[in-house]
Amino acid sequence: MKASQYLIATQKETPADAEVISHQLMLKAGMIRKVAAGLYTWLPLGLRVLRKVEAIVRDEMEKAGAQEVLMPGIQPAELWQESGRWSNFGDELLRLKDRHQREFCVGPTHEEVITDHMRNELHSYKQLPANFFQIQTKFRDERRPRFGVMRAREFLMKDAYSFHVDQQSLDDTYDIMYQAYSAIFDRLSLRYRAVQADSGSIGGSASHEFHVLADSGEDDIVFSSGSEYAANIEKAEALAVGPEGELCTDAFTGHIDSSGMPAAESVSTPGVSSIDEVSKLLNVSPSATVKTLLVEGAEGGLVALCLRGDHSLNAVKAEKLDEVLTPLTMADEAVIEKAIGCKPGSIGPQSLKAKGIPLIVDRSAAVIPLFTAGANEEGRHCTNLNWKRDVGEDFTVADIRNVVSGDPSPDGKGTLDIKRGIEVGHIFKLGDKYSQAMNASVLNENGKKVVMTMGCYGIGVSRIVAAAIEQNHDEAGIIWPEALAPFTIVLIPLNYQKSEPVRTFSDDLYSQLRARGYDVLLDDRNERPGVKFADAELLGIPHRVTIGDRGLAENEIEYRQRNDTENRSIAVDNALNFLQ
Ligand code: ATP
Ligand code: MG
Ligand code: MG
Ligand code: MG
Repeated sequence: MKASQYLIATQKETPADAEVISHQLMLKAGMIRKVAAGLYTWLPLGLRVLRKVEAIVRDEMEKAGAQEVLMPGIQPAELWQESGRWSNFGDELLRLKDRHQREFCVGPTHEEVITDHMRNELHSYKQLPANFFQIQTKFRDERRPRFGVMRAREFLMKDAYSFHVDQQSLDDTYDIMYQAYSAIFDRLSLRYRAVQADSGSIGGSASHEFHVLADSGEDDIVFSSGSEYAANIEKAEALAVGPEGELCTDAFTGHIDSSGMPAAESVSTPGVSSIDEVSKLLNVSPSATVKTLLVEGAEGGLVALCLRGDHSLNAVKAEKLDEVLTPLTMADEAVIEKAIGCKPGSIGPQSLKAKGIPLIVDRSAAVIPLFTAGANEEGRHCTNLNWKRDVGEDFTVADIRNVVSGDPSPDGKGTLDIKRGIEVGHIFKLGDKYSQAMNASVLNENGKKVVMTMGCYGIGVSRIVAAAIEQNHDEAGIIWPEALAPFTIVLIPLNYQKSEPVRTFSDDLYSQLRARGYDVLLDDRNERPGVKFADAELLGIPHRVTIGDRGLAENEIEYRQRNDTENRSIAVDNALNFLQ
């Protein structure tokens, strides 16, 4: 590309309303322009980068055996009513009516449409597994569109949907997609982590998010220094919350005295001599299942304990508490309910005692397998809500950070750390949520009709561009990883307009590099060298070649890598070789 005929729309001023560096640099480099809140136009230079991401994603999807389709952006309400999401998706769903007053939405995702297709197209297990992907524009009416294309309302997503005859097949494809995602982010040279995520509202049994590590990220991710453990904060929290979603950070060691205030006295419990010891035993990290226990302290106060049950590390620790905590403590709500004859949470320690529950382990300590002090009005499991209310504070991510940072990890290896991440990908085992609701089934080997099992896999193609800049920039501008650069080589001829040797050499090198398939930008603009250098740095082009009369007289041109601070001289004869 010749810069004189290309829209180099660089800006010197840092845009005032752009909070994060990627947004600033994308505007300054002339990659995008805002149309309205969360709506952006990709200018030629930005689009080149977007297309590179797209190409890598497409390539890896095809390698993973997914087939490309393209579904419409506008979707009929009927499909969403069928899945049940028309009424519960919320305000991110942009609804509209056509001239016949029929209802539609602008697709924020495509589970309904693909499931509708595949219930018609797929009939037999022999056609499965099948995986379909598209790279397509989504619309989500985000409450707070911000950070440019990072959290836009209209954005480009790669979404894929897989169909299976059974769980094993889904598990296999999920693994393949996990690997494909890793390959994509490797090829993009991004520093990322795959973390366990909550499958929450979408349902399903497993989910991972892929996060690009960056301080500007909107998400907290928790991971271990010494092992594979990594989870997003919701998942880590989910591990640290009770079954009703209440935070349990305090309850690890919280001691509520008889007046309902936190206190630090120890209690005596057989096998555990002090609250400190209990804390030490239990304060390992958020982990699999949180069971909050109440221990009636010496003065009649309550000590809230968290037994994080079914994790291996905790299970080992928990063994030491076995005699104290009794098998009931490891049981789930239903078991407890059966044992104590009423819903946990609906009674307090006194009524437990009155019922003669054999958990009183000594005169001063009653260990009660409850999730709650039983004091919440609605009878919910609310030890921590109580605590929150008593202490009069809200829990924040920072509180959780204080609790988990530096803790051993759930798997007993390394210590936990929290970092900020940008969610660039998300994979889900959906199970039969959509196929069941929409009756998408096939005949299995025995000729029996079975509802298909599904997976879904998203990548924020446009968000990746911003995320890459968050990780790769300096004061002068963007530093593109080679795979993403809009141009990989920029040729900067000095005095191009007037010097015949410079012009001839530059044009020649430009043609030869292009013929070899390189994305080259020849900066033939009638601008001062300073302007060209500054633009080349702002645009983040990895390789820069400067061609001037003085150098050519000595058969030399100057080369500099975007990351370097020094020029290198290259012999003219060797230029092509060197750049390849
Ligand atoms: P977020 O938590 O950031 O709102 P999400 O969990 O709602 O994202 P998914 O439904 O998992 O998003 O969609 C798949 C991918 O689409 C996300 O991992 C992200 O990379 C991208 N994405 C989602 N929302 C946006 C947005 N508003 N702007 C740009 N990319 C987005
Ligand atoms: Mg979202
Ligand atoms: Mg998310
Ligand atoms: Mg997500």
